Amino acid sequence: MKLVWNNPETMEPKGYGCGYCGKSLSSEKGYRARQQGFGDRIYGWIYICHFCHKPTFFDSEGEQTPGETFGNSVSGITEENVANLYKEARDCTSINAYTSAVLACRKLLMHIAVDKGAKEGLKFIEYVEYLSKNNYIPPGAKNWVDIIRDKGNEANHEILIMNGDDAKDLLKFVEMLLKIIYEFPADVERRRNKQESKP
Ligand SMILES: [Zn+2]
Repeated sequence: MKLVWNNPETMEPKGYGCGYCGKSLSSEKGYRARQQGFGDRIYGWIYICHFCHKPTFFDSEGEQTPGETFGNSVSGITEENVANLYKEARDCTSINAYTSAVLACRKLLMHIAVDKGAKEGLKFIEYVEYLSKNNYIPPGAKNWVDIIRDKGNEANHEILIMNGDDAKDLLKFVEMLLKIIYEFPADVERRRNKQESKP
């Protein structure tokens, strides 16, 4: 589907990350809204992404809607719940719902562990330790287990309010895990199948 917008203006170029397709771009096509009765006061701008052609609104304070989605897409995820939760965690960041993003990441880690053979009904941190003990977490990222343990505050069941950096960091960790656990093995498999099918 290709969207065609009627006569957008050429405006001051604006660099942003598109919340729909995830690409970074600088757009100069879109629409300007003036506030009636306030002379030339600009209320906001709509910029159109030249990759996916979808509109992003910026208000006069510069707030972007939808916001930029953190992280990158990961291919080869065979477990539907894992793929859906990763998408959900990323989508939460585009509306600044950082606590929800962190909670989705925590649930995601549990789902990954169960998919890789952990028992059901364990505590969150036991799932993270399972992934670590079974070498799914590479040596350079092991300190993450401690960070997640500290953030989790599992013991008193307190839900901490998370900020953008918390969500960004945890999503980065989760993305790395998903690539190691799903995407890279799927790539190897694809390569092997391609070689085998050669005459
Ligand atoms: Zn886009």
